[in-house]
Amino acid sequence: MTKLELPKLFKHYHEIEGRDGFNPSCGVTLDNFQSLIGEYHFSEEVRCQVRKSDGNCGNNHLHGWLGLTKEGKEGLIGWLCAVKYFNADKTFAIERNRVRKEISISSSLASLNNLLTNRDVFEQTIETQMSRIRFLRDSVKSLESRLLPSVIKTVSDMEKLETGQYIFKFNMSKLMKKVRRILNGLINESGIFRAHQYGCTLT
Ligand SMILES: [Zn+2]
Repeated sequence: MTKLELPKLFKHYHEIEGRDGFNPSCGVTLDNFQSLIGEYHFSEEVRCQVRKSDGNCGNNHLHGWLGLTKEGKEGLIGWLCAVKYFNADKTFAIERNRVRKEISISSSLASLNNLLTNRDVFEQTIETQMSRIRFLRDSVKSLESRLLPSVIKTVSDMEKLETGQYIFKFNMSKLMKKVRRILNGLINESGIFRAHQYGCTLT
C-alpha cells in the first residue's frame, strides 16, 4: 500500500484478489500486523487468513478487514477473528477507526458529487414538492372561503401539521359528521381539494 492510498470499502473479492500485494496464503497475526487497507462486505464467503498455532484460521465469512503485514503482504482478517484477537489491540483499533472514518468521508463526498452531478434532477424534485405545497395551501384557502367561520374554527382546532402534510382528524360526533360531509361535498363536487391525491388523510 502506498502512503497515498485511501482506505477502501471492498464489495467484491476480485477487487482484493487483483491487488499486487494480496497473498491468499499469508497469515496475519498480531505480531506481524502493520495496518489496514480497507474493510470488505462480500455476498460470497471468503476464507480468514488470521494465523493460529495450527495454521491459518480458514473460517468462511462475508465481512472483515484487509490487513497489511510488516512483510508487505496483504491478507484477510475475518470479523470473528478481529473480535477475538485484534479488537483489543491498540494499533488495530486505531487503524479500524481510521479506515471507517475515511470510508465514511469518501462515501459522503461521493454522495455530494452525485448530488452536484444530478443537480438539475434534484432541483426539479424540490420544485415539484414546492408546487405541491403551494397547491395545497391555495386549496385550503379556497376551501376556507366556502365555509362558515364557525366550521373553519372547528376544522382549524382539529388540524395538525405533521411533516409537511395536513392531517384532519374527525371524531364521530354529529358536528364532525356534518363537517366531514361538507368537506367531502366540496372535494367531490368542485374537485378543488383532492386531499388524498396530495397526501391528506380524511378520517
Ligand atoms: Zn478467522
